[in-house]
Amino acid sequence: MIIDLSPIVRDQNLNDWGLVEKVVRAWRAQRDANAICYGVADNSLWYLLDEPGRRALSDWKKRGMARSVPDADADVIELAEQHSGAVVVTRDLYRAERREHPWLQGSDRFFSPVYANGNVAFKQLDMTPINESEVSMRVEARDLKPRGLTSPETKQILDSEWACSNPQCVWGGLPVIDKDPCYRDGHVLCPECGESANRVGAMSNTRQVVVFLDTGEIDRFPVPEGRTIVVGRTRGANRYDIRDVLETAKAALVSRDHLAVSNVSGSIFVEDLGSKNGTKFSHDGTTNALEPNVRQRVFQGARISIAKGALQIRQSGRKRVRARWDPDLAMPPWASPGREHVESKER
Ligand SMILES: [Zn+2]
Repeated sequence: MIIDLSPIVRDQNLNDWGLVEKVVRAWRAQRDANAICYGVADNSLWYLLDEPGRRALSDWKKRGMARSVPDADADVIELAEQHSGAVVVTRDLYRAERREHPWLQGSDRFFSPVYANGNVAFKQLDMTPINESEVSMRVEARDLKPRGLTSPETKQILDSEWACSNPQCVWGGLPVIDKDPCYRDGHVLCPECGESANRVGAMSNTRQVVVFLDTGEIDRFPVPEGRTIVVGRTRGANRYDIRDVLETAKAALVSRDHLAVSNVSGSIFVEDLGSKNGTKFSHDGTTNALEPNVRQRVFQGARISIAKGALQIRQSGRKRVRARWDPDLAMPPWASPGREHVESKER
């Protein structure tokens, strides 16, 4: 059972992890007592959860039951492809993804929870095949430029990474905003809170870092051009706090400031910051200890290991995709008069 965690937690604007636990309990009681659960969260979900919710998500990660990534949709579909016997609990019909993943058409593996009188029931999502022209329209709607970003001059805005300046915002604690920004009166704004957004670097130079434990991949985070993310046992901006994913005994092997992961013009470098237990670097079959305070370039395929191998990172080969603007499809673009005329002219 693959759970698309963000929409479930955000159901009815509750931001309540308890809904996830309810869904799991209900599925096991009603459908499959032995169901194994795996959750995929957007990186922003962490910031929407309260303390108990964060602890629960951490706990799932530590047990190899969840991961956080910039764009959950891609991972949900990938996992569903790898595990053909698994069901997917979500709110999404993945209409824009059906061309790339034709098996989605007519699939009977997608379910949504329905809440009534404190109980959870499951409704099979209607994945009835949609025709090629609707798929096209969904793809087009997904890729529509966000409001205010329609002129050619603003292309640069969409090709850049942005960070939110508001510490109270969902995106405030993250190095980049994982969605397209807004643009108003010459200012680039955070799509969530509307405060000003600061340019970070060229999106084409953003790299993704994958974090994994013995149990497998648990996190992916973007490292934008010109930025350094410190991996260690401390919380804060531009930090990856390993306490959220490691058991206490293993976390104790990691220094407060253990490893710096930097992006220099699109190349990833790591540097051991004089940590107590050091950092191992493996590439092409050889493993060496990193010399403290010396930058080492990370090549594709290299693995960096800290806490005696309990936590490893590598650079992802996956291209950076900012979760695209989410248009309001209650007013489908194909419903507007004159649209067919415009379309036939363009084709
Ligand atoms: Zn914001």
